[in-house]
Amino acid sequence: MEVNFYTSQREYLAKREEFQQAIENVLKDGIATLGKEVKDFEKSIEDFTGAKHAIGVASGTDGLILTSDILGYKNGKEIITSPFTFLASTSCIARYGGKPVFVDIDPETFNIDTTKIEEKITKDTVGLLPIHLFCQMANMDDIMDISKKHNLSVLEDAAEAFGMRWKGKGDTYRHAGAIGDIGIFSFFPTKTLGAYGDGGMVITNDDKLAELTKIYRVHGAKAKYHYDYIGYNSRLDTMQAAILLVKMKYINDAIKRREEIANIYKERLKDIEELKLPVIKGDQMPVYYVFNILCEKRDELNAFLKKSGIGTSIYYPMPLHLQNCFSYLGYKKGDFPVAEKVCGEILALPIYPEIKDEEVEYVCEKIREFYKK
Ligand SMILES: *Cc1c(COP(=O)(O)O)cnc(C)c1O
Repeated sequence: MEVNFYTSQREYLAKREEFQQAIENVLKDGIATLGKEVKDFEKSIEDFTGAKHAIGVASGTDGLILTSDILGYKNGKEIITSPFTFLASTSCIARYGGKPVFVDIDPETFNIDTTKIEEKITKDTVGLLPIHLFCQMANMDDIMDISKKHNLSVLEDAAEAFGMRWKGKGDTYRHAGAIGDIGIFSFFPTKTLGAYGDGGMVITNDDKLAELTKIYRVHGAKAKYHYDYIGYNSRLDTMQAAILLVKMKYINDAIKRREEIANIYKERLKDIEELKLPVIKGDQMPVYYVFNILCEKRDELNAFLKKSGIGTSIYYPMPLHLQNCFSYLGYKKGDFPVAEKVCGEILALPIYPEIKDEEVEYVCEKIREFYKK
């Protein structure tokens, strides 16, 4: 059996008519940047997340770059974040000379260990950049408490966190990205809400930050050809917005289906002592964007699964503090032992709404076979 790590083909075939109609409508309306579909999609994201403002941008990475610029993450200012993430969570800080200050991760959630943040705060610290990875959010109670106590801004990298909600000690569940000052989503194709190309969104409850984001999105112009800031060209493409609007109709089902798949994995793999399965911490609603296991003999298992026709992925094989591009920060091996250990043990199994139960069962069988269970 062949099990793709991810494929868009099945979704396309299932929703073909709707996608084609949506694209046809964009073409029919004529060439438009930030067209009607972008506005409608922004509105649907505001409704879904409860955020006051949603601003479509060209990618999650651009969302991080624009908002880091707006929040002043530059010129030697220090921003505390995690080294166990995708490059874009940190390159946005470094781009204009901000200094990423890393804190190790929680060994069970893989998110920033909030108990280690305060010891890293200096007079130059201006912000916290938590990342909500894989299936759950970082401890937003701790992060918001620390930010208030030390007067720091909070930029949530919610690129992977569409649909995740945090309650913690609060009264209600609040959507990822809508708790700090600004949050960003990525619509990279594999993400929980994925486009057929690049796309991203900035969300915020702050009117001023929303206005600035809109201005920065189109070259820093408040009025056409009058530039108050040195901005960007980073618009969400109308065609992608049209596709994403179709996908928003099914988002709750897609999230539910991901949970079903995660439950099959958990049930079938729970007795294998060489594995560690995801542990959700804090009162929150997880969304299984990625289903990760920590495994003994990870690379051998991975090779065995590949040979058995199963697609897998390793997020992330190397933490950012050991990447060549950040060598100037002066970190060395051993600085963040939890992140470094996880990089050597983590393995992502196939999970997407269209995967069949039989395929998930096959993956589990092969893993059991490898560990001779
Ligand atoms: C995907 C991702 C991004 C970048 O999003 P793009 O839309 O691909 O630019 C940023 N941060 C994290 C944690 C991601 O997973």
